[in-house]
Amino acid sequence: MPVEKNQGDPVTGGTLNGTGSFEMKALRIGSDTLLAQIIDMVNKASRSKAPIQNMADRVAKFFVPIVVPISILSFAVWAIWGPEPSFVFAFANAVTVLIIACPCALGLATPMSIMVGTGKGATAGVLIKEAKVLEEMEKVNVVVIDKTGTITEGKPSLKSVKSFHSSISEDKILMLAASLESSSEHPLAEAIVRAAKTKNLSLSEVTNFESITGHGITGMIDSKKVFIGNAKLLKDQGVTPDESILKETEGRQSVSETVIFIVAQLQLLGYISVADPIKANSKTAIHELQQQGLKVIMLTGDNKNTAKGVADALGLDGYEAEYLPVDKLNKVKELQQGNKIVAMAGDGINDAPALAQANVGIAMGTGTDAAIQSAGITLVKGDLQGIIKARKLSHAVISNIKQNLFFAFVYNVIGIPLAAGVLYPFFGIFLSPMLAALAMSLSSVSVIVNSLRLRTVKI
Ligand SMILES: [Mg+2]
Repeated sequence: MPVEKNQGDPVTGGTLNGTGSFEMKALRIGSDTLLAQIIDMVNKASRSKAPIQNMADRVAKFFVPIVVPISILSFAVWAIWGPEPSFVFAFANAVTVLIIACPCALGLATPMSIMVGTGKGATAGVLIKEAKVLEEMEKVNVVVIDKTGTITEGKPSLKSVKSFHSSISEDKILMLAASLESSSEHPLAEAIVRAAKTKNLSLSEVTNFESITGHGITGMIDSKKVFIGNAKLLKDQGVTPDESILKETEGRQSVSETVIFIVAQLQLLGYISVADPIKANSKTAIHELQQQGLKVIMLTGDNKNTAKGVADALGLDGYEAEYLPVDKLNKVKELQQGNKIVAMAGDGINDAPALAQANVGIAMGTGTDAAIQSAGITLVKGDLQGIIKARKLSHAVISNIKQNLFFAFVYNVIGIPLAAGVLYPFFGIFLSPMLAALAMSLSSVSVIVNSLRLRTVKI
């Protein structure tokens, strides 16, 4: 929820000023600012990140040291026991082994799949910046998610309107609040005014508008003095709500709604509650991840009450509240030290260090540039369903790479012994270098054709 700032309050660089303008005094500059410290954390986290060794690299590590001795061995064997001119025969065989073993297809196997997979992701709103995360995403077993702007919309909207008088409709309550708030710069004002506009309520003129800092606002509407504000305002006005009303509003506050009371002529007319709603797809996406056996943990800078409300509503595996950027970063490190492969999803500057540290950083396209820069994946619409898509894509790409490696090797496994001349002693035939070149090209063609199949995969 946006925080109301008043004269003399500290403000932090890199945060958003909702409305209006203000004059501020810079108390820290350069590397002492919170923003500079966050940038420093992001850089350190990305430098310390272990590089992912891709599958083809691991295979190539064994492949090359095996092929070269085979070629030399075949040269030696045929130079001694081969038909005349034995030196020429031995040389042709050794070269044929090297031609057929040329790892062109091996070199293509990973990049081709990743290139096609990345294009496929882009059409589904999953932008992949670090191609290698596609290889890592499938192995993820813990998903760490930020709350505000990632699980929730990140901007408050109207939750409920209640009238305590049969003669006053709920629309009237909303109209009174919106009329007053339309002159206000309070962080929640926009949500209330927006709600009144969607209901096509015509707002009344307000005179003698006055803001009572930290309590609420007041003004004259139709020659009546109307107040709206929090519990402190009720006290100012000497209004003591009934036990049942208190219970009801406390219930709303416990599920992280902000309650705003409307008072006129020393009477409590009703209340409005506002909350940062959970995004439409968050629940199904999180549930699906849990069904796939992943743990989903929420880390938020918000207060414990609000965090608990969201965590309970979504059935999360855990949550931490009142977390600073460095706490989020440390939590990701701690999970990684416990041998977890961590994906982190977030939208804010405060998430950037943790996004850079995580095995897979996932930024909301609706979020800040700092988050997008620090993450390997960006979900264009900021919809958590994108994590599921990224996982499906990762799975498809990994199995495609494995098939490619098969195609890269099947020709080698058959071709290398033939090229080395194993058939010569029995049938008197050996593989011509031209046929070896053809087989080598075929393996590359097979890899390319197979990679293109990724375009038809459903994510
Ligand atoms: Mg956030």
